[in-house]
Amino acid sequence: MLSIVVPVYNEGDNILALLRGLKEKVTAEHEICVVYDFPEDTTLPALDRAEKLLDLTVRRVRNRYGKGALNAIRTGLEQANGALVLVTMADLSDPPEVIDQMVAKAQETSADLVCASRYMRGGSQSGGPRLKSFLSRTAGMSLHLLAGIPTHDATNSFKLYRKSFLDTVRIESRGGFELGLELVVKAHLNGRIIAEVPTSWQNRAAGKSRFRLWAWLPNYLKWYLLALFGRRKTIAASR
Ligand code: UDP
Ligand code: MG
Repeated sequence: MLSIVVPVYNEGDNILALLRGLKEKVTAEHEICVVYDFPEDTTLPALDRAEKLLDLTVRRVRNRYGKGALNAIRTGLEQANGALVLVTMADLSDPPEVIDQMVAKAQETSADLVCASRYMRGGSQSGGPRLKSFLSRTAGMSLHLLAGIPTHDATNSFKLYRKSFLDTVRIESRGGFELGLELVVKAHLNGRIIAEVPTSWQNRAAGKSRFRLWAWLPNYLKWYLLALFGRRKTIAASR
């Protein structure tokens, strides 16, 4: 089974469209876990209405590591029941039709991690802060070319993980969205199989981004440098 983990912070204006997209586009058997920080979050009442309207059930999981998206994702990864765990954003930036392709890719390749990639052939990115896009593309392309990571987009949070891989990792990230990068780098250094499928990212139309580029940049840098200079275990030794 597939677990779809969605971190939310006041996504009351987006959650209905998100769930409708998942219901229409994801054919793989799945559970949806919405992870929220606090009971007054605007997503929750909208979620009640959306469930009735769409006739589906969503798990509500409270962030257990303090505030913020990273802690929400961490909580969701731990609470997920599926053998495959997917993280997607609630702000409609990630196209739900890509999810089935990610699952198929994981099955075809036995990958432990499938990245939805904006920077490979067929992928795209539109809108959002220019500097953020530039840095994310530069990081993704350079990690592919210089560190040999088998994806062009290591920093995207839209990713599919095999639970058996997640269970071997001690998550160290404490800040922003750099958890996605940490997990790719650790998968790579541990000789795990990484695959990618193209995706198109679109900046949110409703709600507000809470991405803090300058505050989180050092957190990303740590994993970036580890990818470039860390020693890679041989595949034979780790599998
Ligand atoms: N998010 C969250 N907690 C936070 C900030 C964001 O769960 O403290 C969620 C948000 O609801 C959305 C996702 O993380 O599902 C992406 O957030 P945001 O749009 O702020 O980041 P960006 O897309 O700009 O990188
Ligand atoms: Mg966003």
